[in-house]
Amino acid sequence: MSETRILVTGGAGFIGSHLVRRLLDEGHEVLVVDNFYSGSRANLADVLHDPRLEIVRHDVTFPLYVEVDEIYHLACPASPVFYQRDPVQTTKTSVVGSINMLGLAKRTKAKILLSSTSEVYGDPQVHPQDESYWGHVNPIGIRSCYDEGKRCAETLFFDYRRQHDLPIKVARIFNTYGPMMRPDDGRVVSNFIVSALRGEPLTIYGDGTQTRSFCFVDDLVDGLIRLMRTPHEVTGPINLGNPHEFTMTELAEKVIAMVDTGVGVEYHPLPSDDPTQRQPDITQARGVLGWEPKVQLAEGLTTTVDYFRRQLAAQSVG
Ligand code: NAD
Ligand code: UDP
Ligand code: UDP
Repeated sequence: MSETRILVTGGAGFIGSHLVRRLLDEGHEVLVVDNFYSGSRANLADVLHDPRLEIVRHDVTFPLYVEVDEIYHLACPASPVFYQRDPVQTTKTSVVGSINMLGLAKRTKAKILLSSTSEVYGDPQVHPQDESYWGHVNPIGIRSCYDEGKRCAETLFFDYRRQHDLPIKVARIFNTYGPMMRPDDGRVVSNFIVSALRGEPLTIYGDGTQTRSFCFVDDLVDGLIRLMRTPHEVTGPINLGNPHEFTMTELAEKVIAMVDTGVGVEYHPLPSDDPTQRQPDITQARGVLGWEPKVQLAEGLTTTVDYFRRQLAAQSVG
């Protein structure tokens, strides 16, 4: 395959850094654009020396003029803790940031992929969720900056397609976890593992009966790359996630058994609009992309626990 110039917005974040590594491994030139709001250069420490990698500090809410062939548009904080800290900036990032990246794609004739989210389904009343479901989203709640921002980003992608025939791809990503999440990220997998490693009780929000389906990051990145390489007529939206569904109580039990530091759980109030259940229907991803997750929770958690163990050890030495 000839060398492709690929822009990854949000490439210093959790998913972005794994994607960048995969694209470099395949021999591509990669431009990372990130404002380091929730990501960091440290996530790319092992590839910083690679001459095919360029990292630019830039906020996608401002225009960007570069020459590229493909754009993976991932820039946007994904953890509720981070996206709720500056909610107006979160909406701007999804809406204005997408307009800028679509304008860039239009000028350069680049293919452009949006990392949308299962949050477009809100607190779903259809289970499992397939792509035809329009969702159940509160437009004025504390999660709305993220949910409605991504819904508007999807609208923009499809309007640029209808108006300008842009080669768009929209992935709806379900809860993804793995190495390179921040210890203070605030999402459930990292919170539970970090608490257990520190010998502190795991914080369960609500009664722990709410469900999520967790996808290991390597599988997810494989799905994103497959989607980018589909023909022009394939736009998505397409669900990417692992259909195995767990309650937060079950997740806590698994982490406690795996880390084995004798910790228990502690109950905290459930944040408002927290979805009660979530499971992807991945029929389309199986059929269109020939994709399904390979790494199950026990294996992915083991890898992630090892990562955080090393991170926390390095922090305590430093
Ligand atoms: P993350 O917070 O680790 O990464 C997001 C990256 O975007 C960070 O490096 C951050 O600094 C950067 N960023 C944020 N605002 C920016 C801006 N205005 N300009 C430039 N850079 C900016 O999150 P993640 O989990 O890696 O998520 C990556 C993408 O995948 C996001 O778009 C997110 O919505 C989507 N997604 C993730 C999940 C998941 O479970 N991880 C689920 C659904 C969707
Ligand atoms: N844009 C950008 N880089 C480019 C081209 C456009 O950041 O290479 C931004 C530009 O600031 C514009 C937005 O993308 O506001 C949308 O561009 P488009 O061409 O769709 O619309 P217009 O320029 O007509 O507003
Ligand atoms: N959660 C929890 N304890 C934590 C962090 C999160 O019980 O320390 C719950 C949270 O309320 C939600 C689920 O775990 O029901 C997943 O939360 P996360 O923030 O990881 O992702 P999202 O809610 O965006 O799917």
